[in-house]
Amino acid sequence: MAASDQPNGRPVTTQPTVAVLGTGIMGAPIARNLENAGFAVRAWNRSHDKARALVSEGITVTDTPAEAATGADFVMTVLIDGVAVEQTMVDGGALEAMGKDAIWLQCSTVGIEAIERLAELATQANLAFVDAPVIGTKKPAEDGTLTVLASGNRELEPKCQPVFDAIGARTIWLDNVGEASKLKLVVNSWVLAVTAAIAEAIALAEGLGLDPQLFLDTVKGSATDNPFLHAKGGATITRNFAPAFPTDGAYKDIKLIRAAAQAAGINEDLITAVQKKLERTVQKGHGEKDMAAMFHATAK
Ligand code: NAP
Repeated sequence: MAASDQPNGRPVTTQPTVAVLGTGIMGAPIARNLENAGFAVRAWNRSHDKARALVSEGITVTDTPAEAATGADFVMTVLIDGVAVEQTMVDGGALEAMGKDAIWLQCSTVGIEAIERLAELATQANLAFVDAPVIGTKKPAEDGTLTVLASGNRELEPKCQPVFDAIGARTIWLDNVGEASKLKLVVNSWVLAVTAAIAEAIALAEGLGLDPQLFLDTVKGSATDNPFLHAKGGATITRNFAPAFPTDGAYKDIKLIRAAAQAAGINEDLITAVQKKLERTVQKGHGEKDMAAMFHATAK
């Protein structure tokens, strides 16, 4: 396999099998990048039609999670939340089907409580488990430039790293299962707060009768500038809310973040405000749109 065959240019030396459970916005491009990197990929999705498109790309699509997991070296869960992961792994039979040397890479964002529950399921089944949520939305998933936050037994790192290199540009390893999920919540608290702030600043500019592009142009190149502002701000100005990170998923995450903040005993005023805005966005029927659609819960 030539290094240039991978989106991030990293070479892969082995060709183990990866079962990708969940082929949504993140799971489908992750499966493609694993396949392009030379892994044998088996994919499963609850709605079979969503996974079917992967067949033409050489990926084996299975009817059940158990079928995908049987004989796989890695089982990667990329599902919406902890309940979906548990249902797929337990009721779907994937956990039972995994071989004794297989490793479960749990890449969904599930929060602190659920990651502990899922890790316990792996322990009870005597299986290796890596808590591995990812940072980056649809485009980095397609480009293979996600950041993988991996936590668990560091002895698993050499085996897992080629898999993470196929889907990401960077892996941050932490020692204890659960730490990666905690870090993911911290990062998303920042991302969601910034997205809400962008929605409000653009709504304020428009509400005051200004061209909102003036706001973006004014901060451009200053210490308060960032590329995310131009991506989400530009999309908001043109009302292009094609989902990269859907509002439904962001709303799920802010509830996990709030629960974590409450457990940590910190004042969560800002998190609560962002949760309200996301909730209103969902209630107004914009759940499937990108989280930048928080604008619709802000502007008149
Ligand atoms: P998505 O496109 O909405 O896909 C969700 C997946 O979960 C689909 O495969 C869906 O199956 C499946 N699912 C939902 N409920 C299920 C259940 N009860 N049993 C089995 N499968 C179920 O979501 P996504 O954006 O790919 O996100 C996947 C994970 O990555 C989430 O934890 C998300 O928070 C995280 N993440 C997302 C982004 C992003 O920007 N999108 C970035 C980083 C991390 P169906 O197709 O049948 O509905």
